[in-house]
Amino acid sequence: MTAQDVKRYLAELRGHPLESVWIYGGEPFLYPGVLAEVIKISKRKGIAQIGVLTNGYWATSPSAGLRKLSPLKQAGLNAIIISTDGLHAEAVSPDLAINAIRAALKMGFKKVIASVAFIPPRKLSNPINDRSEEIWAKLKGNPHLLLEENPVVFIGRAAQELSDYCQPKKLKAAQKCKPPSYIGGSFDEPQGLEIDPYGWVMICPGFSLGNAQKQPLAKLVEQYGNSGNTLWSIFCSHGPAGLLNLAQEKGYHQRALYASDCHLCYEVRKFLQPYYPEYLAPAGCYNEISRKRQRVR
Ligand code: SF4
Repeated sequence: MTAQDVKRYLAELRGHPLESVWIYGGEPFLYPGVLAEVIKISKRKGIAQIGVLTNGYWATSPSAGLRKLSPLKQAGLNAIIISTDGLHAEAVSPDLAINAIRAALKMGFKKVIASVAFIPPRKLSNPINDRSEEIWAKLKGNPHLLLEENPVVFIGRAAQELSDYCQPKKLKAAQKCKPPSYIGGSFDEPQGLEIDPYGWVMICPGFSLGNAQKQPLAKLVEQYGNSGNTLWSIFCSHGPAGLLNLAQEKGYHQRALYASDCHLCYEVRKFLQPYYPEYLAPAGCYNEISRKRQRVR
């Protein structure tokens, strides 16, 4: 995503006062120039909370952490979430994340959250959860740090690679569900939306309202729930169960077991994706190459 895209999106949403802008990826610190520019644009728009979600790989020492964050704080960044857990630890040492957390706390950010993912249920012992527990134990007890436990949601690559860690269940498709916690609210009245670098506007990853590179963002927001988007109409009236019915009419065979409600919904959407590529987008959410397979190659 370019800073110009962000400028345009915020201008298009001027009739919809925003409480916060969060920048996440991937890893936003890989594009420090765009990150700083997006923060400045959001600040100029008067947005109260401007946050970034990162794995902290850049905090190679406590002083490096301060050096990276200082210009961003001056630009208007006031909230930060640092992800560190058994999944991230494969690539980024928790020590770096801890440097980043310490730097953010020292600099007086309004909100500093450490986000630790677990494969649900948390009590399930596996190499990822065991490592997450170790990291949790290191972080807990700091009164200035918000420590958040995040259950892995089985969508995209997580569905392919992590669902085997769970004890799968026999599930009935739900009639209703709630958007991911970082969006908030309900599907009838979501509190936020996310936009990917290609312009896809989503309330849940891979389930798109439309594309803000092709249509004005304000129009997509204003026609939410009333857009003639067949898939959304079915979903809003009948939830994931409605999508399952539609998929079954097209030949989908329900599995005996799924890791979770979201896993069931994702597998159904994956089946439906070639029929509704405009709404089940971005396509990459459904055909990511699993890292297991990449390693084999
Ligand atoms: S994956 Fe499906 S069931 Fe889960 S929150 Fe998204 S829309 Fe709801």
